[in-house]
Amino acid sequence: PAGTDPIAGFTDAHAAWQRRYETLLGTVPSARVARALDAELSSEPGLATTTGDRRRVQRIVRRLRSYGLEPEVRTYYAYLSRPRHVKVEMTAPQRRTLPVKEEKRPWQEHYDEVIPGHNGLSPSGDVRGEVVYANYGRPEDFELLAGNGVSVKDKIVLVRYGAVFRGIKPREAAKRGAKGVLIYSDPADDGFVRGPVYPDGPWRAPDGIQRGSVAQIQLAAGDPQTPGWPSVKGARRLPPSQAPMLKGLIPTMPISYGAAEPLLRALNGDRAPKDWQGGLPFTYRFGPGGTKAHLDLRNEFQVRPLWDVTVRIPGSEHPEQEVILGAHHDSWAYGSSDNLSGTENVVQVGRALGELLRKGWRPKRTIVLATWDGEEYGLFGSTEYAEQRAGRLRDVVAYVNMDGAAGSQFGASATPALDRAVVDASKQVRWPGTDGTLYEAWKAQHDGETPIDRIGGGSDFQAFFQRYGVPAMDLGSSSPGDSGNYHCACDDFYWMSHFGDPNWEYHAAMARLAGIATLRLANADVVALGYRPYAAETAQYLADFTAEQRKRLGSVVVDVSRDIEQARAWQRAAEALQARADEALGKGDTAAFRRLNDKIMQTERDLLTQAGLPGRPWYRHQIYAPGIDTGYATQRLPALNDALFVDHDVRTAKVYEEQLYGSLRAATRTLTP
Ligand code: GLU
Ligand code: CA
Ligand code: ZN
Ligand code: ZN
Repeated sequence: PAGTDPIAGFTDAHAAWQRRYETLLGTVPSARVARALDAELSSEPGLATTTGDRRRVQRIVRRLRSYGLEPEVRTYYAYLSRPRHVKVEMTAPQRRTLPVKEEKRPWQEHYDEVIPGHNGLSPSGDVRGEVVYANYGRPEDFELLAGNGVSVKDKIVLVRYGAVFRGIKPREAAKRGAKGVLIYSDPADDGFVRGPVYPDGPWRAPDGIQRGSVAQIQLAAGDPQTPGWPSVKGARRLPPSQAPMLKGLIPTMPISYGAAEPLLRALNGDRAPKDWQGGLPFTYRFGPGGTKAHLDLRNEFQVRPLWDVTVRIPGSEHPEQEVILGAHHDSWAYGSSDNLSGTENVVQVGRALGELLRKGWRPKRTIVLATWDGEEYGLFGSTEYAEQRAGRLRDVVAYVNMDGAAGSQFGASATPALDRAVVDASKQVRWPGTDGTLYEAWKAQHDGETPIDRIGGGSDFQAFFQRYGVPAMDLGSSSPGDSGNYHCACDDFYWMSHFGDPNWEYHAAMARLAGIATLRLANADVVALGYRPYAAETAQYLADFTAEQRKRLGSVVVDVSRDIEQARAWQRAAEALQARADEALGKGDTAAFRRLNDKIMQTERDLLTQAGLPGRPWYRHQIYAPGIDTGYATQRLPALNDALFVDHDVRTAKVYEEQLYGSLRAATRTLTP
């Protein structure tokens, strides 16, 4: 790559300087170091708040110190569950105890520290009942059951993983009176139907279990008892009964398809529809009848300390402004993919920046490198950090996240303002297994496009972006079959070195990508946040909202035409600002840079509503939020769409239209001289 092309947001002179350091940075991350880091960090399980996690944190700190950096460990306190006693039994047609943990593989050390199947933050309970199969456990799945005359009241609901965030499944089952939930991984989704299973291949073996939180992340994130404020020592804590993230749950437990098979096989009742059939070799039926189960779940809840690691590299020109690059270091078990891959890449960026610093280089803005703890339970470490530093976050230019970053298939999500930054950075990185750049490989995988998702739920960008309006991007890469190791004891060094990234080159490439993206944001004369496409997309979302009303309600009850007009005005203001920025860059007008950057950084914040979204005040972003019924997938214009189409509350929708209009005006004003 290198070359002499201009870089968006840099004067020509500064672009030359920047190129030099990007090239140097690119030479540092290596496959050898990625492998060594993974061997060390995945040598034992790193479940948040355990001693294995503590040792992992110390290892990260030692590494960063050895690169000449000064890491800091930040402690927060979170209310979380650990399984104390777990029993799952089939009680009819025969009594049979079902396995609750993977078999030990010979290369796995500290196997006793791997916890059994666990859905984080599930309540305890000792429940028995007839089993009903409910497909993916989405609202529409339960509606289909009801339409077929099947009630889940007092039943144990057996659902498969997939389609939506797992916390939606028990919420929907609980609403309809179920007693307990078993969530299993169907082989059609990530097991033998897809390909060879671990340890012969990457896909999920019959004993593989997907652990994972069932916290109601679509309502709030972070320590469940402190939504919106930092869980430092002595912090005020909500009683668990009032914690939004714990709302509406019933005892829930994940199992393997090996364990689910006898339960499903013996089920009576009507044959389930075609798209409910999974990969096990028999006809799936709804139940009830045939199968009964007993679930004895004793989860211990406690407030425990957890540990983020941060490194601050002070900026030479704008030390108060920051770019944050982060990845979570906690994992359900060994976690080579999720998310030691991201952690190792952050550490490699640290190694590269250490080299640059030794050569006398300094970033213009402050760079913060972070590895977060407690992501798996509900984004604890990143959220508490953001809540603690809320007052300072308006000076954060951008947050760059990595969660799963070690495979050939690249994927990104971002605020539209950062689309260009992602694409530009992708042009600077050679992509392993090809003779071109990541940009070229990315396009080749998507018919010439470079698709970037919008930020929804499920990783550490949430507090930054959706609560505090920090522009964010998420850079990921995965390999075929890696859904098969998701939250499984099989997500280990063996898996990574045989299937995920056997040459450890994708790790290094992703570290380069994240490093370059971060460096550009830190050093740009005019920060590369582009609001023209953002405004255009927002106008489109508003038009879609109007069309949806016509379709579903037959008429338009919440008129957003003035918002569409305003989004267009915002777009024109963004275009005019870009012209002023280009002019200032041409002239090297430093005073203008400062004025422009203030405006550019304010704009994403203008899109927040201080009141929060309807029914979930922790979330404040009016353009994007996690979907109420999806958890992961983004909901566009969440306040308007949820008020009107979920709650059927026209008045609230109108209140939020007013809010949005105010925000779009503010964004326009901000970008106008
Ligand atoms: N990424 C984790 C998961 O999907 C945590 C998501 C969350 O709880 O917010 O399970
Ligand atoms: Ca908190
Ligand atoms: Zn993760
Ligand atoms: Zn995870």
